[in-house]
Amino acid sequence: MHKAPLKLMIPGPIQPADDVMKAMGGPVHPHYGPEWTALHNDTLDMLRRVYGTGGEAFLIVGSGSSALDACLGSALSTGEQVVIGVNGWFGERLVTIAQQYGLDVIQVTAPWGQPLDPAEFRKSFEAHPQARLAAVVHLETSTTIVNPIEQIGPLAAQLGRVLLVDAVSSLGGIPLRMDDWGIGLCASASQKCLGAPPGLATVAVSPSAWELIDRAPDKGHGWYLNLRVWRQYATDWAGWHPFPITMATNNVLALRAGLQGLLAEGIESRMERYRVLAMRLRDGLRQIGLQPYTPDTLMAPVLTAAYGPPGVATSEIVNYMAEVHHTKIAGGLGDQLKDKIFRIGHMSPTVGEADLDLLLEQLAAFTPDWRREA
Ligand SMILES: *Cc1c(COP(=O)(O)O)cnc(C)c1O
Repeated sequence: MHKAPLKLMIPGPIQPADDVMKAMGGPVHPHYGPEWTALHNDTLDMLRRVYGTGGEAFLIVGSGSSALDACLGSALSTGEQVVIGVNGWFGERLVTIAQQYGLDVIQVTAPWGQPLDPAEFRKSFEAHPQARLAAVVHLETSTTIVNPIEQIGPLAAQLGRVLLVDAVSSLGGIPLRMDDWGIGLCASASQKCLGAPPGLATVAVSPSAWELIDRAPDKGHGWYLNLRVWRQYATDWAGWHPFPITMATNNVLALRAGLQGLLAEGIESRMERYRVLAMRLRDGLRQIGLQPYTPDTLMAPVLTAAYGPPGVATSEIVNYMAEVHHTKIAGGLGDQLKDKIFRIGHMSPTVGEADLDLLLEQLAAFTPDWRREA
C-alpha cells in the first residue's frame, strides 16, 4: 500500500486545487433557504458563463453519466430515433445509454483515433428526417480525439435537430460555446476540467431542447433524471429549494471554488495555458522516443496519449508510474487500445510545467525490466 495518495494524472478525477478541497471539507450546510439558494444560483451563473449559454443550467447529484442519462431520457420517448456519433469508447457508451431507454439508434461512425466527419451527420440527418436528436462526444477521452462540435452544432441547428454534447472531459478545458455553436443539451461533470472532486453532474439546456423535451411530457423516463422535474423545482421552489432532492452542498461549494478559480484566471487564458502545456508534453515525449497517438493538428489540450516503446504493454508503464513514482496515469481503453497506448491527464489547473517535466523524466527512466530492478 502507498502511504501517500497517488498523484493523479488521469483523465478524471483530477487533483483539485487546495482551496477547492478546503471548500469540500468545510461545514455541511442545509440545502435550502434563501442563503443556500443564493449560493446555488451564483454557482449556476458561473457555470453558464463556462458553457457560453443564456439557457438554463442544472447541478445533478451524480457522475457525468447521470447528466447523459438525463439528457437522453428526457429528450426522447421510447422508440424514437437518435443519431449518435461513435469514434471511441464514450461514443459507444452514448449508444448503450440510448438503447437502455429503448431509443432507435442510428450511428455515424469514424475509426477510433479519427474525428467524426460533419458531412456524415448531414447525410444521416437527410436520411432520417424523424431523428430529432443527435448526440456526440466532444473530447473522446478514450482516444484523445476532439470532435468538430463547432461544425456539427450549426449543421444540426440548421436542419432542425437538437444536438446533445457529452462535454464531460472538455468543459472548462477546451473551447466550447454552447449558444454560438447551436448546442441544445450539454452534459459535463465536476471532476474533470471544472477542477472539483467527483459527485456532481452539470447539464445546460437551450430553448430548442426544451421544445423537444416538452413535446410528450407524459412519455418521459423516470423522475430523478427527468429534466422537466428539475425545471419544475427551479421554478416552483425558486426562492428556497430550486432542485427536487437534497443537494450535495459540499460538492457544490467545491465546484463553486473550482469555477471561481477558472473565471479568475480567465477562460481564454486558462485554455491557452493548457495548449502550451500540451505542446510541451508532446515535444518532451518525442524527445524521449515516445510517439503521441494523434498528430499535433488533432491535439487535445487537456489529455495526451502516446504509444509505448516497441514490445512493451503500456499497462507496464502505468504500473511503473504508480509503483515507483506514485503517479497515476491511465492505460488504453477498449480492446483496440488496451496496452497499445497510455494516457496522461493534464486537465487540472494544478498541473504545471514542473509536473510535466518530472513526469517526462520518470517516463524516460522506464525500462522494460523495471520490476526486476526495483
Ligand atoms: C469521464 C467521462 C464520462 C463518464 O463520466 P462519469 O462522471 O464517470 O459518469 C463520459 N463521457 C466522457 C467523454 C468522459 O470523459
